[in-house]
Amino acid sequence: MLLRLPTSVSEAQECMTEGAVPIGGATLVWAAWQRDGFPDHAMSLRDLPEANTIGRETLGAAVVLNRIDDRVPEVMRRAAATVGTGAVRRTATVGGNIVGSTLRCLLPPALALDARAVILEPEGVNETDLAEVLAKRHLLLSLRWREPISSSYHKAAGEAGGPPPLVIAAAVHSADDGQRLLRVAVREDEEVFSDSTVCHTDAEQDLRALRDGSFGRLPAATWDAVRRHVTDLLARSADR
Ligand SMILES: Cc1cc2nc3c(=O)[nH]c(=O)nc-3n(C[C@H](O)[C@H](O)[C@H](O)COP(=O)(O)OP(=O)(O)OC[C@H]3O[C@@H](n4cnc5c(N)ncnc54)[C@H](O)[C@@H]3O)c2cc1C
Repeated sequence: MLLRLPTSVSEAQECMTEGAVPIGGATLVWAAWQRDGFPDHAMSLRDLPEANTIGRETLGAAVVLNRIDDRVPEVMRRAAATVGTGAVRRTATVGGNIVGSTLRCLLPPALALDARAVILEPEGVNETDLAEVLAKRHLLLSLRWREPISSSYHKAAGEAGGPPPLVIAAAVHSADDGQRLLRVAVREDEEVFSDSTVCHTDAEQDLRALRDGSFGRLPAATWDAVRRHVTDLLARSADR
């Protein structure tokens, strides 16, 4: 297998047209490749500056999970810190987690941040939404979003071999018209729900608006956890 390490977007584009398979930390693909055979060409984005950004409003796809620190909003930082084991976090990347894994603990935070995906296509760099990236398995270069006022993350304790643990990610954003917007994403079993509402002065109204939307399908115990989490975030955001 030839591993390509492009240092520019045009070089990455060239690798892509030559059929190079994207690779992050290889924590998931390695075992499958050993079993089924290695591809002729693979491409890692670890030397590509556009895929290594870390900031209040951006996160590169080649960033290794344990490099995600307080430069990014709390919701994303805490999600990365609770993925797998220390050994996994030292190797696995943002792109591998969002596009390539089944658990995708970084997906709910990305949805709560209303993140857009910056992708590379044969024609060049484009921006799209996360649903399309997952459906078409685009080559992800980075995520970008607008910095929220505040955000928070909760992951329930999981059992080995059990269903994926409950994840709740939430963020309060300022909207262009001066209002505030609450975005919440929940992973329940293998399904990810996300919804948003304009913030009212009364948190109960925000909760009702969420429950009247897609969160109406959440089981009662999950909804109770969402309610507690969101109420706490709204209280913390009130004086910001
Ligand atoms: C022991 C263990 C525990 C784990 N626990 C968790 C957990 O709690 N939560 C969780 O979310 N995940 C968990 N995972 C999954 C872990 O997050 C993944 O192993 C990891 O995200 C894959 O990242 P990687 O960079 O190694 O991807 P790779 O193995 O390199 O690639 C995986 C797939 O993603 C594709 N890919 C990689 N980068 C890109 C890109 N930039 N654009 C498009 N496609 C790309 C590859 O082509 C491949 O198909 C766990 C894994 C292990 C081994």
